[in-house]
Amino acid sequence: MRNERLRLKKYLGQHFLKDRNIIRKIVDFIDIKRDDIVIEIGPGGGALTKELIERKPEKLVCVEIDDEMIDYLKDTFRDCSFIEIVKGDAVKFNFSKCGNMIKVVGNLPYNVSTAIIRNLLNYKNILEVAVFMTQKEVAERLVSKKGKEYGYLPALLQNFFEIKKLFDVSPKAFTPPPKVWSTVFEMVPKDFSLDRKELEQFEKFLKKAFSSRRKKLKNTLGAKHPEFSEVLNLRAEDISPEKLYKLFTIISQADKSLNCQK
Ligand code: SAH
Repeated sequence: MRNERLRLKKYLGQHFLKDRNIIRKIVDFIDIKRDDIVIEIGPGGGALTKELIERKPEKLVCVEIDDEMIDYLKDTFRDCSFIEIVKGDAVKFNFSKCGNMIKVVGNLPYNVSTAIIRNLLNYKNILEVAVFMTQKEVAERLVSKKGKEYGYLPALLQNFFEIKKLFDVSPKAFTPPPKVWSTVFEMVPKDFSLDRKELEQFEKFLKKAFSSRRKKLKNTLGAKHPEFSEVLNLRAEDISPEKLYKLFTIISQADKSLNCQK
C-alpha cells in the first residue's frame, strides 16, 4: 500500500496501526461469518480494512470523516465488491442504515471515542458485537464498576453491554506512535433495553448522580426520600451500574406517586 503519501491529521486522531499481529488479533475477535454486516469506524489508511476484507463478510461499511482518506480507500479497494466507503461523522452516524444486525469494529479516533460509543448505544438493538480500541485509560474507565475511574458513562453503558477488556497495545504498534498505551475491548449487548424517553431520563439521572463526586447521592440528586436514606447516603461512585439503575426506577416511581398525591 502506498499510504506513506497520506498527510496525517493529528486533530482527527490519526494513528495508524502497522503491527500485523495486532491487526489480526483485533479482527479475530469480530469472528466474521459470511453473512455478517461489518461496520468499521475510522478506517484511515485501511490497515484494519484490508484484514476485514480478507475475512469476506457479506458487506463492509467503512465510516470515515476525512476526504483524503476516503479517496485513498476508494482507490485502494476499488476491486472489492462488498465494501462501501461512506463519508460520515461516527459521533452522529445512523448505524441502522447499514443493516438489521451489525458488527462494529474500529481503532477509534481517541478525541471522540466516548462520543462514538455513546452514539452506538442508540443502535444497541441491532448490534451483535463491537470491538474497539481506545486509549488504555478510556477503556479502563469503561470497564470499571466503582471508584475513581468509574463515572456516568461506564454506569450507563454497563447496564446495556457486557464490556470486556481484551488486550493492551503498545504505542510502537502505530505510526505515528501515540503518547499512551491503548486497549482493545469488546462490547456485547445485554438483554436490557429502555425506550428513548426512559434512556434520556436515566442518562440525566446518572449525570446528576456523578455531577459532584465527593457528594452523597442525597445531595447530588436533591432527593427527599427518607425511606431510601441508607443508599442516598452513599456516593454514586460506590454503587454498581445495575444498582444505580434500580435506584433510578425506585426514585422515579416514588416521584410519580408523590406527584399523583399532590
Ligand atoms: N483504522 C485505522 C485508522 C485509525 S485512526 C488504523 O487502525 O490504522 C482514526 C481514524 O478515524 C482516522 O482515519 C480519522 O480520520 C477517523 N476519524 C476521526 N474522527 C472521526 C469521526 N468523527 N467519524 C469517523 N471517522 C473519524
